[in-house]
Amino acid sequence: MSTCDMCGKEAELVKARIEGTLLDVCDECARFGEIVERRAFRPKELPQRQAAAPKPKRKEILQIIVTDYADKIKNAREKMGLTQEEFSKKLNERVSIMQKMEAGQFKPSIDLARKLERELHVHLVEQYDEAGEIPLSTPKTKGEGFTLGDFVKVRKKHH
Ligand SMILES: [Zn+2]
Repeated sequence: MSTCDMCGKEAELVKARIEGTLLDVCDECARFGEIVERRAFRPKELPQRQAAAPKPKRKEILQIIVTDYADKIKNAREKMGLTQEEFSKKLNERVSIMQKMEAGQFKPSIDLARKLERELHVHLVEQYDEAGEIPLSTPKTKGEGFTLGDFVKVRKKHH
């Protein structure tokens, strides 16, 4: 709403040519001239919506170090013909950590386990979906020995 150029009334205005002059006038005053254009109704400018597409709900993935990580690391390292010292240098980890891991006294973090997986080409991290029922990756190789019982045990420790 704005004010009519002719009568001063607050009204929805139209542009009209009245006596040779373009004026913004109300409907009534517009009758005195010739309507040039109706003002398009302009909806209030809405603030640009944040392009906030809701993040797809990420499934919680449970990552668990396999129970026989110690043997796997040791075997794979020996297969590569590296000593603990050599391998720990390669990994940029302390040799004491290697010793403890291979003795089963130190469970590597997921990050470290991933690094070991890359270097040794072994499988050290089990992934489960949020329900914890369906292993996302189940390399059921012989002697893997990772049973659901183990899994439940491990899981309880984490809670
Ligand atoms: Zn008017």
